[in-house]
Amino acid sequence: MFEDLRDLYQEVIFDHNRNPRNFRVMENADRKVEGFNPLCGDRLTLFLKLNGDVIEDASFQGSGCAISTSSVSLMTEIIKGKTEQEAEELFETFHKMTTGKEEIQLEAVGKLAVLAGVREYPARVKCATLAWHTLDAAIKNEANSISTE
Ligand code: ZN
Repeated sequence: MFEDLRDLYQEVIFDHNRNPRNFRVMENADRKVEGFNPLCGDRLTLFLKLNGDVIEDASFQGSGCAISTSSVSLMTEIIKGKTEQEAEELFETFHKMTTGKEEIQLEAVGKLAVLAGVREYPARVKCATLAWHTLDAAIKNEANSISTE
């Protein structure tokens, strides 16, 4: 990766960590799921407002490291207006990107590409994917809380 691109990515991560987007409790949320990553101590609560199968609004509360906070902040931005199906597909692509098991087109994940660097740090992959595992549980509507362990 080019150094200037890496710097740009880090800048986006720092920005979302300092000023998380959609950081609020949602009244009348249709889905509310708590996610926990014991490996790092990241905790978040994800709120979704649904209109049919479209994610109309997404927000979160919680505290975690810079990677988990920027990941959930970016996620709440990007999933708004997407269908549950589209969000699940994005999760799959994001998961491939962060685990590095499969090469993906970075264009397919838009802004989320800033988190591609975590694949070089296996211990941080769960920080980046916690938000998405929580979203997956919220969409499937099977559990009120999940843990990455
Ligand atoms: Zn973390």
